[in-house]
Amino acid sequence: MTSPHGTTGAVVIDGKASAARVREEVARDVAALVAETGQRPGLATVLIGADPASEVYVRNKRTACRAAGMEDLHRYLPADVSQEVAEKVLDELAADDFVSGILLQLPLPEHLDRRALLDRIPAEKDVDGLTVQSAGLLALGRDGLRPCTPAGVLRLLDDHAIPLRGAEVVVVGRSELVGRPLAQLLTARDATVTLCHSRTADLAATCRRADVVVAAAGVPRLIGADAVRPGSVVIDVGIHREAGGLCGDVDFGPVAERAGHISPVPGGVGPMTIAMLLANTALAARRQFGG
Ligand code: NAP
Repeated sequence: MTSPHGTTGAVVIDGKASAARVREEVARDVAALVAETGQRPGLATVLIGADPASEVYVRNKRTACRAAGMEDLHRYLPADVSQEVAEKVLDELAADDFVSGILLQLPLPEHLDRRALLDRIPAEKDVDGLTVQSAGLLALGRDGLRPCTPAGVLRLLDDHAIPLRGAEVVVVGRSELVGRPLAQLLTARDATVTLCHSRTADLAATCRRADVVVAAAGVPRLIGADAVRPGSVVIDVGIHREAGGLCGDVDFGPVAERAGHISPVPGGVGPMTIAMLLANTALAARRQFGG
């Protein structure tokens, strides 16, 4: 079989199309919210220092936020800001009724205590879903804002009608940001989840059991064709910049020959992360406005 994208074998999952749909839904929701309540959702991105990649990510988030009809309430703090001042800024944003969501861009300069800063963000404004409170709500299966990249992976699977109930899913990587929350979200959707990490004894054999493999290890081309059962679904969260361009944690060419569905890098999970941030901000606003 040849997919519309010219790859032999797998259907290539189109993250750009899914992300565009989410962004349209958010823009409609924001317009409805403004009409119903007279209030407009606002996203406060907080950038500390001048990390070039973070500057690009924040710029893209702000542009997407404005395009969805939300207020861009960005705050910039210099790289040498003290912990005390950074905490004060987050406290101000937490108390500000115009701010529906707060996103603290990571990584932070080394002298700052990341966990202490994240935890100044109240759960109802935690649109990145990374505070201890949000993680606790997810772990307990209670309502809350979910981390954007794992939520984006779920939305991609849903948009391609990939069944999760009873499915064997292997998640490779157990980070706070991606693997761990994703395993919990998948468990809540009745998948049988195996969470792999750097000490997993035989990664390829474990992955071969899976109906769905999600690679989030941060190792270029870690998942090869030997780790994929024919016809299974492979989602690649990894992003690596190499001389020849971007690549992921999956060895795309050989894996695409075997898999039933595969997400590419770029154009797979990446575009979903910002889209889900917008969705979280609109949801947070709706709850705060009582709309
Ligand atoms: P991370 O914090 O470095 O965590 C990596 C995880 O992978 C760890 O749990 C680690 O195991 C595991 N791992 C490392 N090497 C492994 C191996 N050889 N076999 C099996 N497991 C291994 O990374 P992250 O923040 O989750 O990010 C993962 C990747 O996703 C990165 O490439 C990152 O750039 C990308 N990413 C993309 C997006 C997006 O929007 N598309 C968003 C976030 C992250 P241990 O726990 O044992 O160390």
